[in-house]
Amino acid sequence: MIVEFKDVKYVYNENRPNETVAINGINLEINRGDFIGLIGHTGSGKSTLIQLINGLYKPSFGDVITYSINTKEKGDKLKTIRQKVGMVFQYPEHQLFEETVFLDIAFGPKNMGLDKDEIEARVKDAMNLVGLDYESLKDKSPFNLSGGQKRRVAIAGVLAMHPHLLILDEPTAGLDPRGREEILGYIKKLHDDLGITIILVTHSMEEASELANRILVVKDGKILLDDKPIKVFENE
Ligand code: ADP
Ligand code: ADP
Repeated sequence: MIVEFKDVKYVYNENRPNETVAINGINLEINRGDFIGLIGHTGSGKSTLIQLINGLYKPSFGDVITYSINTKEKGDKLKTIRQKVGMVFQYPEHQLFEETVFLDIAFGPKNMGLDKDEIEARVKDAMNLVGLDYESLKDKSPFNLSGGQKRRVAIAGVLAMHPHLLILDEPTAGLDPRGREEILGYIKKLHDDLGITIILVTHSMEEASELANRILVVKDGKILLDDKPIKVFENE
């Protein structure tokens, strides 16, 4: 087990008039090798849930244990979690800010204090994993790339940190059907070929059941369903 939620609640603006219970009593175990499709309507609690996993948010009640570390811990322990859990936020291409594709993808590994050769090897490897040609793209400005390429640069930046658990929040949002298929294909390969545990946040049941081996449906801050894709369809 790599992530455990124990009776977790998360409340925004606690004790204020605009108090919102975003996560309302979740018990959950995520195992190595899972490919989870996390589904729910807007406002159901998906974003809050994934940010509880890597300690960006701390539970208001209960505990989240990620890679054997309670996310309420501070300092170095939290750093370990951040390195093992890679997070690709919605529209990650908005967070590209370096001058070249190389520098953008190298940003994380540099922060990890890796040496030059290791950084270069990781950038090459990460670009290869998402189908970006290293030689022709490394010196380009990320701003001049196509929408799908920008998104893949952002994903490569997270992959270069060698996450063991990769969480992607709506990675295909705003892409055309071809861009969608491409990204989903690469994500599937990360799971199947490298054994990276994946959480794919989506509001498309079709997308989730096509790829995931476990579907989690969230509603009003609770887990409504946790099952294999086929069972979820039977229950619809
Ligand atoms: P989803 O990702 O499924 O759209 P969220 O986790 O973003 O759901 O939201 C869950 C609930 O928490 C919603 O009612 C939402 O309005 C509320 N919420 C989310 N973020 C904030 C915030 N920063 N401040 C206050 N309420 C928030
Ligand atoms: P690391 O030094 O990167 O932590 P480990 O051998 O401990 O190496 O872990 C390998 C794990 O890292 C794999 O199981 C996989 O989940 C993950 N991983 C992430 N990105 C890559 C990558 N580009 N190449 C190989 N493994 C990767």
